[in-house]
Amino acid sequence: MSNKQIRNIAIIAHVDHGKTTLVDQLLRQSGTFAAHEQVEDCVMDSNAIEKERGITILAKNCAVSWEGTHINIVDTPGHADFGGEVERALSMVDGVVLLIDAQEGPMPQTRFVTKKALALGLRPIVVVNKVDKPGAKPDAVINAAFDLFDKLGATDEQLDFPVVYASGINGWSSLEEGEPGEKWGESMAPLLETILRHVQPHEGDEAAPLQLQISSLDYSSYVGRIGVGRINQGTIKPGMDVLVMEGPDGRTAKGRINQVLKFKGLDRMMVQQAGPGDIVLINGIEDIGMGVTVTDPADPQ
Ligand code: GDP
Repeated sequence: MSNKQIRNIAIIAHVDHGKTTLVDQLLRQSGTFAAHEQVEDCVMDSNAIEKERGITILAKNCAVSWEGTHINIVDTPGHADFGGEVERALSMVDGVVLLIDAQEGPMPQTRFVTKKALALGLRPIVVVNKVDKPGAKPDAVINAAFDLFDKLGATDEQLDFPVVYASGINGWSSLEEGEPGEKWGESMAPLLETILRHVQPHEGDEAAPLQLQISSLDYSSYVGRIGVGRINQGTIKPGMDVLVMEGPDGRTAKGRINQVLKFKGLDRMMVQQAGPGDIVLINGIEDIGMGVTVTDPADPQ
């Protein structure tokens, strides 16, 4: 898969503005996911593991496939208590979707994450959600989003954000206010198309030495610790020997990758190879830690 066929996004939303419902629709409509119940099951499973193992799993990522493009959706903790987590999650993405309730407008609790995203140079897409509500006032919400971005130091390019109107619960989105668009019928296609068009694929040379920073951790009783991160450059394969570096002056250790997996729906699938832009889960390195960089032993970056 070329990096042109990958998009990595985070969805920033205030609680109750409809993120779970919207992501569920994306999963269903892209054919990566069957039943709504499984969403909750999976979320609960990871929480149970989190408690059991004492490993913080804040990033519940998933991926949808659209027109041959793999879209990773990275979860971001909703509020400021998780400063480091937010930065790490955002370091894996190339664009953000700010999902806003069409009646309530942007909420102060999402300011922190939005500010971080803007400061990292990420371009926002605004989704005005729940436009089916009688009290919806999309224009006012878009203006409030503009003012918020402006206050938070957005560039002109970031202020020139695309807007998608959505009713996540009814499974449709539109580029025009009020109605599901004619072209795609009642579907999430307008949102998915907007993501493909406005989020830049990650640039990186697949022939360069491997550079993969671990941005979150997971655990499985079968394979032990799992490191999650986006490949900046190079190629990773199962069975590969690597160097694990803890920061520029930190400890360096040798390791061997066991499996390489990617997100698919809310599941993970094993792959034989992954390259620049791919968000991967790797296991086999027992004490892999947050923030370490996995590189080629021959040519550490
Ligand atoms: P989250 O906390 O952001 O993940 O929000 P949820 O997806 O759990 O939704 C919160 C509430 O809003 C639930 O009661 C949903 O049924 C409702 N909801 C979600 N999307 C829509 C929508 O498009 N329109 C309306 N009217 N309600 C919605």
